[in-house]
Amino acid sequence: MQDLTPQQALEKLMAGNTRYVASRQDTHDYAAERKELVNSQEPFAAVIRCADSRVAPEIIFDQAMGELFVCGVAGNVPTDEIIASLEYAVAVLGTPLIMIEGHTNCGAVHAALTHRNDLTQLPGSLPDLITQILPCTSALKGEESSWLDQAVINNVKAGVGRILERSQVIQEAVKSGTCQVLGGVYDLDSGIFELIECDSK
Ligand SMILES: [Zn+2]
Repeated sequence: MQDLTPQQALEKLMAGNTRYVASRQDTHDYAAERKELVNSQEPFAAVIRCADSRVAPEIIFDQAMGELFVCGVAGNVPTDEIIASLEYAVAVLGTPLIMIEGHTNCGAVHAALTHRNDLTQLPGSLPDLITQILPCTSALKGEESSWLDQAVINNVKAGVGRILERSQVIQEAVKSGTCQVLGGVYDLDSGIFELIECDSK
């Protein structure tokens, strides 16, 4: 089981992003890392990422194989399957940190914003997924040009709330202090991952 506290896990994750932004990534011996991980894994953080090709957590947080438990879906929304996966990380692997990784210029959030009044315009199964992102498009303020950024932040906050609301397992781990659920936004341009304040109690 993982022996880092949630705070230590957060520091380790953010230190990796600092290395990435400064282009001072750790070097990896993947062959050696792979051998060490054959029989067990102890990821110190679970990350919910968007399916977007530009946001890979192992890269932007500069972490080795076996360190991050990554769940992904367009719009980084904690669907029921993702919440179940997170419960495995927390309850079985003892992962002390859950991080929702939103990102700027998110296509899924943009689709929710554009089609918020009529999701049936979207092709295939997209309406089912985008419906789950839709709450982030309400209560937007000010200039329309800032709405996408606001919606991305709202979507991360909603995701944190949703995990705690829907998972008793994770809620109990948070209450006992063994796990923390946080969120932030990755900037595609600067590479910086910025934590945002979420109501995670
Ligand atoms: Zn996205």
